[in-house]
Amino acid sequence: MTNSTQSDRTTFLPQNNEDATRFLDAFATMSSFGATEAGGIERQAATEEHGQTRSWLAGWLTERGFSVRRDHAGNMFALVELTPGAPYVLAGSHLDSQPRGGRFDGAYGVLAAAHAAERVVSHYRSSGEKAALNIAVVDWFNEEGSRFKPSMMGSAVFTGKLDRDVALGTTDTEGTTVREALTAIGEIGTEAVFGDSESVACYAEIHIEQGKILDKQSVEIGLVPSTWAANKYEISVHGAQAHTGSTEMADRQDALYGAALAVAAVRELADRYELKLHTSCGQLTVYPNSPVVVAREVQMHLDLRSPDDAILAEADDLLRRQFAEIEVKANVRIEKRHAHTWKANYYQGEGVELARTVADDLGLSNIEVQTRAGHDSTNMKDLVPTVMLFIPSVDGISHSELEFTEDKDLCNGVELLAETLFRMSRGALTGSPAQ
Ligand SMILES: [Zn+2]
Repeated sequence: MTNSTQSDRTTFLPQNNEDATRFLDAFATMSSFGATEAGGIERQAATEEHGQTRSWLAGWLTERGFSVRRDHAGNMFALVELTPGAPYVLAGSHLDSQPRGGRFDGAYGVLAAAHAAERVVSHYRSSGEKAALNIAVVDWFNEEGSRFKPSMMGSAVFTGKLDRDVALGTTDTEGTTVREALTAIGEIGTEAVFGDSESVACYAEIHIEQGKILDKQSVEIGLVPSTWAANKYEISVHGAQAHTGSTEMADRQDALYGAALAVAAVRELADRYELKLHTSCGQLTVYPNSPVVVAREVQMHLDLRSPDDAILAEADDLLRRQFAEIEVKANVRIEKRHAHTWKANYYQGEGVELARTVADDLGLSNIEVQTRAGHDSTNMKDLVPTVMLFIPSVDGISHSELEFTEDKDLCNGVELLAETLFRMSRGALTGSPAQ
């Protein structure tokens, strides 16, 4: 457990053992919503389990004086006004999970933000100090993108990158729209929460690393300076439906064969760039997916990521040429139906420096770690100064029930976030120091 009484620390919000225990108990309770037998959670966006988790957290926040509001895109915010009319420091992540996902991905960041914000608020209330900025916590809607695509939906609407009506009209595989799913669990509001009268001045997010750099180097904190670029494609391979027995091999337009070649091509592409390119095909939908029918169409989701925009562009070009060869070889047509892309992008240097200073003051070892995964902070950093923090993931396992982070790392992260939010609330990133 973190000991806050060491004299070499320059901190405003020391975390005592009681704070740490309270956080771990709350984390255990939160992890019971949608818990799977293997220790993970099944809590996809706008499901009953997601709604239950939100209701529980909303209750916790309301009891502590936060005003909980849902916006028109399904994001849940909890606000505390310390200084009337001042903009807000916002902190959070996402409570939704992948199917059979881990209990730390996203949910840790939301709960850490709630506890950190509560400590900041308590400090102002007990000290009488005047805050430059107000405090709010957020659960961004549908960060995972497993039930509804694209991922990072709520923060994309919030930052003006995705039209709200397009987001609300998106359907899952059952044909249920985002609007219907959110309405069914009572998690959609009628308007934006932050608008003309209230604004967000800066944002912070803490998340498990989902990689093994911190774990392998035994470093406690990752300071995120930039994101990997990503290209996510929806591909359709078009063939012709036929009998698997009677149709001559030469006459076949087997969409599944074409898709299989494409999956292999995407995988082998990564081998050309060693550590600089990650590729995968995460989903295949086969039509009609019947044992004695040659597939007429396969829809697939491809995901290419790199720290280097130039490599990603080159990979994209190589893939296009390979797809042309596959079209000839398998006698199919490959159509790129939709793409969701973002470039390698930098977080504000002042935010990285602020977090480094705080981590040093707390005596927490830290290094810079790029994020390979997308996060809501990827959207937010284009709007306001944003701090992105990582804590270690054991063996780097994520999007899996085996995802794990040690208690001491969870608590270190909450203490770091609380102190960072406090300094942000005093104007550290916005140049408006408190009086
Ligand atoms: Zn996440």
